[in-house]
Amino acid sequence: MAGRILIVDDVATNRIVMKVKLAAACYEVEQAENGAEALRAAREGKPDLILLDIMMPDMSGVDVCRALKADPATAAIPVVLITALSDHDAKMEGLEAGADDFLIKPVEEVTLLARVRSLLRARDTVREWQGGDDTVAAFGFAEQAAGFNGKVAPGKIALVAPGQRGAILWKAAIDDRIGAEVRVIPREAALSQASSAEGEATDVFVISVDLAQRNEGLRLLSDLRSRPGTRHAATIMILPDGDTERAAIALDLGASDVLHDPFDAKELAIRISAQLDRKRQSDRMRAGVRAGLEAAVIDPLTGLHNRRYAIPQLERMLARPGPGPAVMMLDLDHFKQVNDTHGHMAGDKILKQVAARLRTELRNGDLLARIGGEEFLIGLTTINHANAMDCAQRLCRSIGDLAFDIGTEVPVRVTASVGLAYPSQSATCFTTPEIMIHEADTALYRAKSDGRNQVSVVSETAA
Ligand code: GH3
Ligand code: MG
Ligand code: MG
Repeated sequence: MAGRILIVDDVATNRIVMKVKLAAACYEVEQAENGAEALRAAREGKPDLILLDIMMPDMSGVDVCRALKADPATAAIPVVLITALSDHDAKMEGLEAGADDFLIKPVEEVTLLARVRSLLRARDTVREWQGGDDTVAAFGFAEQAAGFNGKVAPGKIALVAPGQRGAILWKAAIDDRIGAEVRVIPREAALSQASSAEGEATDVFVISVDLAQRNEGLRLLSDLRSRPGTRHAATIMILPDGDTERAAIALDLGASDVLHDPFDAKELAIRISAQLDRKRQSDRMRAGVRAGLEAAVIDPLTGLHNRRYAIPQLERMLARPGPGPAVMMLDLDHFKQVNDTHGHMAGDKILKQVAARLRTELRNGDLLARIGGEEFLIGLTTINHANAMDCAQRLCRSIGDLAFDIGTEVPVRVTASVGLAYPSQSATCFTTPEIMIHEADTALYRAKSDGRNQVSVVSETAA
């Protein structure tokens, strides 16, 4: 199913004409003939998109839109207002009420379908990020899509127009309507942002469809959409009046919005603000997902990676060409006794300090994870046997040589035992994380039984 669309119009013929066009493009269509019915259908049926006539007897489309955007249950559903050409004020009101776009009657099919595709795609992206379950709420970024709220939105806007004069006119038109930094930049500057990994973080690009050459703006749009520095930026394409064909192309190429020149400065300002809001929302979602993913592989007490991260990471280290990594299991000695004597809180303080000490002994590419209560897993990127042994000794001493401060007068001494599994140059039985951990565990067991506070080694040939 391509998507479910709710058509709201008081005139049956209009609904039918629209329905035929949408059904031909495989959309599932529902209908409502007045505002009250539309609100009910939106709440109950959760359509993917609403096409909303402005002129209706009981409740104007603008009021319906406002009500939809005010209700958290329906606020995220994109709304396209359908209007007669003369409704200029109503259009502004509609955009301010949070409508995503308006189309002019009679609605032209190419434009309609391109707009529908573009809005549904944007909505799918949001849904993908949200994952369709409670994870979203758990990560704490379940905000509603914010409509235009009349507030100044700070952000970074870049205008790309043919010739400085045009762009400067645009800038003058919107500058004092938007609480954002508006800059006029040449096409090359936009492209260089696109290619840099961090980008200069433009939030919204406003681009003329024709720059020095015809369609150069469209090509720039494609570049911005596909490159890392600008992929998440919003883009508003400006097209000559009546150029509906290229407007449809722009939307299909991934433009967030299109606008025909000459335009009302207020309209551009509103559209920029709406795109800024949307961009912020998706930035928050991406940051939330990233933070959630990080949290899932980090041990909250020590800040080290946990087992969930460690095992696949070890697998990746093993998959690299050349001799595999050396693996160590490090376990604190008699730690139960430490807890029993000084309390669990003191034990936690020690664990944190242990993590910090181990970290300073290791290099950037090495793996360090807390995989059990007082057990740490270490993976050393390929080094020779002597170096691996050296490192194991160093880690062992970094714990045992210096007492731990737990806030009492006398610091506490804790020692650790280390089991080291070292791969040989030729033999190939140390192939999986499980085998390596098992071997390191065997070595650890020996270190414990030989008296603790020491390193024991298993090398592959001996295994
Ligand atoms: P061994 O030298 O044989 O390793 O003796 P041990 O006491 O360290 O080993 P055992 O496995 O019997 O006990 C581990 C103890 O580590 C049990 C528990 O009190 C402590 N421990 C495990 N996780 C935590 C933790 O998150 N915080 C604190 N404070 N203690 C923990
Ligand atoms: Mg222990
Ligand atoms: Mg243990």
